[in-house]
Order: sequence, then C-alpha cells, then structure tokens
Amino acid sequence: MLPEEQVPQIKKQLLEQLDATNLPNKEEVKKSVEGMNAVQLEEFLVQNKLIKSPEGEPQSAPQGSAQPQQCIFCSIVFGDVPSHKIDENKDSIAVLELNPISKGHVIIIPKEHLPDSGKLPSTAFTLAKKIAKKLKSKLKSKDVEIHTSNIFGHEIINVIPMYEGETPNSERQQAKPEELSKLQKLLEVKKKAPILKKPKRKKLKDKKLWLPKRIP
Ligand SMILES: [Zn+2]
Repeated sequence: MLPEEQVPQIKKQLLEQLDATNLPNKEEVKKSVEGMNAVQLEEFLVQNKLIKSPEGEPQSAPQGSAQPQQCIFCSIVFGDVPSHKIDENKDSIAVLELNPISKGHVIIIPKEHLPDSGKLPSTAFTLAKKIAKKLKSKLKSKDVEIHTSNIFGHEIINVIPMYEGETPNSERQQAKPEELSKLQKLLEVKKKAPILKKPKRKKLKDKKLWLPKRIP
C-alpha cells in the first residue's frame, strides 16, 4: 500500500498533471482524486499505469505477449541485467545459462528480439558452433547439443554439453554464482589488449655542438 504520508504529495502532483491535460471530464476526475484514500489512490495509479501493481507485474500485460522492453534476454543484451558473457559477435552474445541443464550450458542470444526461429541470423549459429567446440575441449564433454528455443518471445540457441546420462530434457538446476564465475573465466574470450604503438623516440644525434669560444 502507499505510505499514508505520501498520499497528499502524490495527490498534489496528480492534480497538477490533470490540470495540464485537456480531458473533457477533468474536473470530475480531479474531484474523485481529491476524495480518494490511500488504497483507492493506489488502485487509480495502477489502473492508469502510473505505477506498477504491488505484485510488480504490469496489470495490462496479457500473458504470452512479452514486449521487447520486458524481455529478460533483451535486458541482458542491453546490459540492464547482469550476465556471465563469454563471447559475442556482431549479431549475438553468448552467456552462461543461470539454470543450466548441464555444467557449461551456454545460450546464444541474438541482439535483436526475433520471435521466429526462421529469422535467426546465421552468425548466431556460427557463434553457437564456436562455443560448442570450446565446451567440448575445455569441459571434456562427450557431446554438445545445439538447439533453439523461444522464451518470452525471444528466440535463443542453447548450447548444452552432454556428459553422461544427460539429455536436452534433463532437469535444470540453478547454478551457483561461484561456479558461473569459474566457468566464465575458463570459457571467455580473452580480449587481446590493444597494442599501442609506442611513439618512437627520436634519437638525438651526437651532433658536435658548436660553441662559441669563450673569450677569456
Ligand atoms: Zn527480447
């Protein structure tokens, strides 16, 4: 619920905002806002999408129609949500899955929100194959599964090491943060430090400096 002491302040702001609009029933709305208690005011704000509902879910979002701005993968791409990135190319990034099917489960996230697998850029698969090779050699898995899935309307590619007994449908388990950091260190592409060209120092030639003879 809204803190009681904030109610007058919020009402004041709201009334000012209403004043600035050209709603036909402005005066009516203003009057009802003035008469609201904390609960009614909160409901009003939620309904008008001025704040999120107490559950944190925007009420108007219909299920299964995640908007790009609400998509967790877009948030990862934009860096709004922290992730364990290990590689990237121009169209996609590769991050460690937080709830992996097996150790080293990586997801390739196209930077663009693509709801349809047919549109995945070929470079996303190039990255997936590169990661698969790396997983096989670094983690000594028997095999690596590559398959696409669509979560929250964002098409991604799973790269899953297969050791003993795993299947792509094995149960997911939440990875420990320290495990993820360790894997990230092992798998991430070490960016070569940019080679700075050292400015060449001009050697001073041993010029015989001509000095005027001192007159004693
Ligand atoms: Zn997305």
